[in-house]
Amino acid sequence: MTKKIAIAGAGFAGAVVARELAETGKYKIVVFESRPHLAGNCHTERDAPTGVMVHQYGPHIFHTSREDVWAYVNRFAKFGPYTNRVKAVTNRGVFSLPINLLTINQFFGKTFNPEEAREFIGSLGDSSIEDPKTFEDQALKFLGRDLYDAFFYGYTKKQWGVEPTELPASILSRLPVRFNYDDNYYTSRYQGIPLEGYTAIVEKILDHENIEVQLGEKFDPAFKDQFDHVFWSGPIDAYYNFELGRLQYRSLQFERFDATGDHQGNPVINYCEAKVPYTRITEHKHFAPWEQHEKTVCFKEYSKLAEPHDTPYYPLRLQKDKELLREYMDRIQGEPNITFIGRLGTYRYLDMHVVIGESLDLAKTCLEKSQSEWPKFSASPL
Ligand code: UDP
Repeated sequence: MTKKIAIAGAGFAGAVVARELAETGKYKIVVFESRPHLAGNCHTERDAPTGVMVHQYGPHIFHTSREDVWAYVNRFAKFGPYTNRVKAVTNRGVFSLPINLLTINQFFGKTFNPEEAREFIGSLGDSSIEDPKTFEDQALKFLGRDLYDAFFYGYTKKQWGVEPTELPASILSRLPVRFNYDDNYYTSRYQGIPLEGYTAIVEKILDHENIEVQLGEKFDPAFKDQFDHVFWSGPIDAYYNFELGRLQYRSLQFERFDATGDHQGNPVINYCEAKVPYTRITEHKHFAPWEQHEKTVCFKEYSKLAEPHDTPYYPLRLQKDKELLREYMDRIQGEPNITFIGRLGTYRYLDMHVVIGESLDLAKTCLEKSQSEWPKFSASPL
C-alpha cells in the first residue's frame, strides 16, 4: 500500500527527499509551500526589464566536492562554469578575498613568496590563544590584528549584529586563507551556476507523478495525522508555534539599483568597514558571465535581526539560542512520524550542497529502515 507523505517547504531539502521517496513508487507525496514560488531562498527569476537572472534572496553559488551531489544537480540542470572571486573594500583600499598571497603582499606592501608569507602571517598571529573557540580568537590566532581589523571585524559586526567574541570560530573557518595566488572563494572540487537558475532545478526535481505541489499553501501541523510521515523544512520553532520562544535569525534586506553596462566589474564586492551600512554589493549579471545584457541589476545587502514577519536567513546560534534549541529537540523526541530537515528545520548555517547531500543521505536511510526508525533530524542540530 502506498504511504502518504507530507513535506513542508519546497526548497532543496524538501524537494530532494520528495523525489527520492517518489521514485520508489511506494509513496505519494504532497509538498506544501507557503510562498508563491519554489526553491526557498535559492529562488531565481529572470528580471523582465533587463533579462538578468536575479537571485531573489541574495547570490547563490553552487559548489561541492561530493561526486554524488554534483551528479545529482547535473541530472536536473546544465551548469555554466563559474568561479567565485570576491573583492573587499577596506579602509586601506580594495583587496582580493579570500585572503591570499596577492592580498597579503598588497596589504603589507611586500613581495613575499608562499613560504615567506606563511612565516610572516604566522609571526602576526596571537600565539597565546591555544584553543580558539570564538570568531575573534580564531582570527587573531591565525591572521593577527591588522588583517582582522581590516577585513573581518566591521563586516562581521554588521552581518551578525553582535561582537565577534560572541560568535563561534566555525563561521570564520568557512573562509580559506591561502599562501598562493589562488583567489577562488571556495575549495570545492566542483563549482558552477545553473543556466536557467535554481528554481528551474527544483521544479524539475519535483516533476514526478508521485509528487503533488501546493504552492501558496502552508502546512498546518494540526493536519499531521492525515499523513504517514511529515518532513518539516520550516523553522523548527515555527512547528510548535514558537511556544517555547523564538530562535534568533539574521535576515537580509536588499536595496536594488539599476545601471547600464558594468557597474562594479565583479559579481560581489564586500564592504568591510563598520561605517558603511551595507555588507556587500552584488551585481547579478556577472553570476552568468556567458550571458550578454546591456543593463545591469545590483543590490546593496543590509543585515538585520529577523523580526517575526521577516524571512529568516542565517541562524544566529548564540548561547541562549542553543539552549532553546535543546528544549525544542527534547520536545521533538516525543513526536512520532516527523523528521526535521534543512537549514531551518535543523537551525544550522548550511550551504545548498550540504542540504542536498544530507537529504540524499536521509532518504537512503529512510528507504533502508522501517518507518518507525526514521530519524528525527536530517543531521544533528547541535
Ligand atoms: N566575513 C568577513 N568579511 C568578509 C567576508 C566574510 O568578516 O569580507 C566573515 C563574516 O562573519 C561572514 C563569514 O566570514 O559571516 C562567512 O563568510 P561567507 O562569505 O561564507 O558568508 P555568506 O556568503 O554565507 O554570507
